[in-house]
Amino acid sequence: MKKIYMDYAATTPTHPEVIDAMKPYFSDKFGNPSSIHSFGREAKKAIDEARDNIAGFIGARSDEIIFTSGGTEADNFALEGIAYANEKKGNHIVSTPIEHHAVTNCLGFLKRRGFDITYVPVDGTGSVDPEDIRKAITDKTILVSVMHANNEIGTIEPIAEVGKICREKGVYFHTDAVQTFGHMPIDVRKLNIDLLSASAHKLYGPKGVGMIYIRKGIKIVPYLHGGEQEAGKRASTENVPGIVGFAKAVEIAKGEMGQLDAKLSGLRDKLMKGILSRIEDSRLNGHPTKRLSNNVNVSISYIEGESMLLRLDMEGIAGSTGSACSSGSLEPSHVLLAIGLGHEMAHSSLRLTLGGWTTEEEVDQVLEVLPKVVNKLREMSPLKR
Ligand code: PLP
Repeated sequence: MKKIYMDYAATTPTHPEVIDAMKPYFSDKFGNPSSIHSFGREAKKAIDEARDNIAGFIGARSDEIIFTSGGTEADNFALEGIAYANEKKGNHIVSTPIEHHAVTNCLGFLKRRGFDITYVPVDGTGSVDPEDIRKAITDKTILVSVMHANNEIGTIEPIAEVGKICREKGVYFHTDAVQTFGHMPIDVRKLNIDLLSASAHKLYGPKGVGMIYIRKGIKIVPYLHGGEQEAGKRASTENVPGIVGFAKAVEIAKGEMGQLDAKLSGLRDKLMKGILSRIEDSRLNGHPTKRLSNNVNVSISYIEGESMLLRLDMEGIAGSTGSACSSGSLEPSHVLLAIGLGHEMAHSSLRLTLGGWTTEEEVDQVLEVLPKVVNKLREMSPLKR
């Protein structure tokens, strides 16, 4: 059976050209970038070039890019680093209830340490109103953190407006761009972004490497303490192959982004409309148009997301759900609850995310298999009368 991967929001396969670009940095070019001999200089040159390319991609300066171990570290660094550097100015942070756990759990940690957090609600499509962000800002606010696009429901947030408000109010603006970096154009200057998080494995790069953009002049408390790597902001020997792979993934994205976006939004719409028209009592989660070009998220009444995933997996189809039963928790996705879904509909969600290797045949195959899976599960469901 040919497997169908529709979980690109969880991670993407590493592009073969990315693997080729990384390989020499595991073998001949293995030097430590901090060493002054030729091996070290070769590695240092590679990360400098990677930094230049990634900075150019978002309209930033090279010295504004700090490499990290991924999106989670970038988010934690942004929030804790700004919070601790500005605690004398204020202790208030504004965010939304639909951020990734890399943000919400870090904000929970800061709350336990005395910071005051306001979560500005989102509407039924998962969109935040920038005016509500403005109203939430007080003279104690030091930071606003609003994600660029949501990883579960795909809704794209109005970050240009939020950035403008934050700049006017003199408050730092962080955006988690893990789901959009390499998929949509981003210009940190035009969008008034002060801090941005990205992760390589969401754009056909390797896992375990990411970056944070920190606008020049912003004071931030380092997250890791140790050597002087990354201009003293992030200690630890750099992941040279990972950074080289990340830059290669960005170079590929630069060339293919527009074309891929057009292809994926066509496939996404076909999948979305196909599911909603073929399956009774199903609903779309997230914004109908302002959404990631690869994201389909639906709730299908009377059945559990997890059972759907297991059945689909038996048919060779890999997706994801907002139901967290598998992790031992009965709590459904905080994102689906925040957009107003009841527990039952939140537990019956299915996320299918497409990517570079998705074909129309695969979409057709899912549209054929999914309604059958749903019918079988509904026949057994105690929820369906
Ligand atoms: N933020 C968002 C929106 C994400 O989707 C993810 C990963 O799923 C992360 C942060 C965490 O990134 P990483 O896996 O690189 O730590």
